[in-house]
Parts: sequence; C-alpha cells; structure tokens
Amino acid sequence: MEFIEIKEGCYYFKSAVNIGYIVSEDRSKGMLIDAGLESSAAKKAIKKLQDNKFPITHLFITHAHADHFGGAQYIQKNYEVHTIAPALEEAIMRYPVLEPMYLFHGNFPLKEMRNKFLEAPSVHIDEICQPGIWRADSLEVEFIHLPGHSHNQFGLIYNDIFFASDSYLGKETLEKHKIPFIVDSSSNFSTLDYLLHIKVGGMLPGHGAFSDEYEDTIQANIEVHQRLLIQMNNFLIACGDRGLSLEDLIAKMLLKHEIDPANLGMYSLFRTAITAYLIQLIEERKAVYTIKEGRPVIFSGQPSA
Ligand SMILES: [Zn+2]
Repeated sequence: MEFIEIKEGCYYFKSAVNIGYIVSEDRSKGMLIDAGLESSAAKKAIKKLQDNKFPITHLFITHAHADHFGGAQYIQKNYEVHTIAPALEEAIMRYPVLEPMYLFHGNFPLKEMRNKFLEAPSVHIDEICQPGIWRADSLEVEFIHLPGHSHNQFGLIYNDIFFASDSYLGKETLEKHKIPFIVDSSSNFSTLDYLLHIKVGGMLPGHGAFSDEYEDTIQANIEVHQRLLIQMNNFLIACGDRGLSLEDLIAKMLLKHEIDPANLGMYSLFRTAITAYLIQLIEERKAVYTIKEGRPVIFSGQPSA
C-alpha cells in the first residue's frame, strides 16, 4: 500500500481500493476518506500517518460499499474520529446486512452472500454530509453529490483536488470489470457528465490512480456505459415480439462480455448493474415489461400484441 502525496495537504494510499487523506494547513485536522476493505488496510494507513505525525480527527465515508467502509469499525474502536457520511448510505453502514439483503431480492441473504465483500462490520455515523462547503476550524472541504454507482454517494474537493470515489473507474479497472457496478443509470450518466466538465487540479477514483488529466478516463467511462445501454437495447430489438425474460437478458449481457460470475454474490452485482440500464430504457420508453407465464418479460418499445 503505497502512500502518495498528490499535492500539499492531499494524499492517498494506493491499493485495490484507495484510501484518501487530507490535512489542514496548520496540521490540526486530518481526514481519512474511506477506510478500505478491512481492518488490516485501515491499520496500515493509520500507521503510516502516525509515522509522519499526521493527525486523524475525521473519517469521511463516501458510500456504503463494504470495500470502502470495511476498515471503519477498527478506526472507530481505536481512535477518536468524527465520522461523516451521506444519508441513506449511513443507514446501510449502521445495518450492513442491508447490502446483501438488497442484492438478494430483499430476502434474508444466503450465508455465502454474507462475506467481507458484501457485508462490512457496522459503524456509527456522527454527521450526515450535505452538498456544499463544510468546515471544521482550519479544515474546509466541498462535499459533492455523486449518485449512480451508489444511491447517495458523495465525494469531496480539497485544495482543488477531487476525491471522486467510485463515480468513475480508472481505465484498468474499467476494462477488468467490463460491466461496472451501478444502481441508477441515468444519474450515473449525469454524474459522469458533471465530472467531465468540472475544472479541478486533478481527480482520484476509488479504484485507479490519481490523474491531473482525467477527462480521457471519464470519457472512457461514459463510452463503456453508453455501449452497454445500446447493447441491451439491441438485444431487445432483436427479440421482437417474443421479448426476453429478465434472466435471459442478464445472461445475454454476461455472455456477450464473457463474464462468468464465480458465485451468487458476483452474479447479484452484475444483475443489479444490468437492471440499472433496463430501468433507463423503460423510463425512456425504449423498453416495456410484462409478467408473462410467471416471469417478467422485457420487450423493445411497445409490445405489438
Ligand atoms: Zn463502490
């Protein structure tokens, strides 16, 4: 886990899931941005900060995905931090079983879905963040609402550096995931469009490297999502009046991208992402669904029958 200085006051621990860190000019306040997948990641980050005599007074959790707040309980148990997170995400962090539960149709999840990737230890949140300027003495940041990847994800800007969490992926991760996780396709597009046009000194994604030339990567993200939306639309058009069951539509998308989910948890993540595009198509009246012979069947546009 490499500790990288972006610029004065802005740092990150580069890992499969990045942990950000910002410190006020007078070094009286220091904020961790996310906590990593598990306590060992948080431990390493904190040790490095302590070795450098950096303060740890605040913890900001961008969204309630286990890989971003898995190390948070360890931090809260061992250090006095004021924890900030977005509304709604906060509820999931308080009751982390909600994540495998919502990924599993709302049922109580099977044991195999209750793992560290889908369910992190519970944390308490001291403050709900709002969009705009936030201040604690000498530390001033701007919180930015970044929905799409998660319902109420937030990022922050400090010293002209945008800690953008999972609102976009680094190019390598983007290629590896093939169908990136999103819950809401239209707001995901709006968020990416916002990122593309904002002028900041540089951006850090939750997965990937910091860059001061981020436009290219954001554009690549937009293109991947546009392509996926078009592919799904084309599958529906090709099936005409027969339509496609929701499961077959998911299977077609997975096979097209040669994705073979290793377990039910992985499958559920892809199903949620694929359903997000379907919802956008339904909202745009490019798709309709009906319950037929005991299953949801999706058609392109209006069914002829
Ligand atoms: Zn995430």
